[in-house]
Amino acid sequence: MSTPVERCPHCGNEEGFYTKDFASGAIRTRYNFDGSEADNTELYSGLRHKMGKKAHCAECDKVVFDMSEYEA
Ligand SMILES: [Zn+2]
Repeated sequence: MSTPVERCPHCGNEEGFYTKDFASGAIRTRYNFDGSEADNTELYSGLRHKMGKKAHCAECDKVVFDMSEYEA
């Protein structure tokens, strides 16, 4: 995935960013007991439309861009 910014406009961090949302408790990556990842396709596709994700700077925690806007 490419991003609309190369660094944080607030603090200049180039390390990366993270996303969070208010329903994070419902978001789980599922694994099988043998260590393989379970089929999460439907879970992800269902959530994607509900979330207004914002990308936060990993350093200063400020919003650097809006994921939902960018993906659309
Ligand atoms: Zn920052």
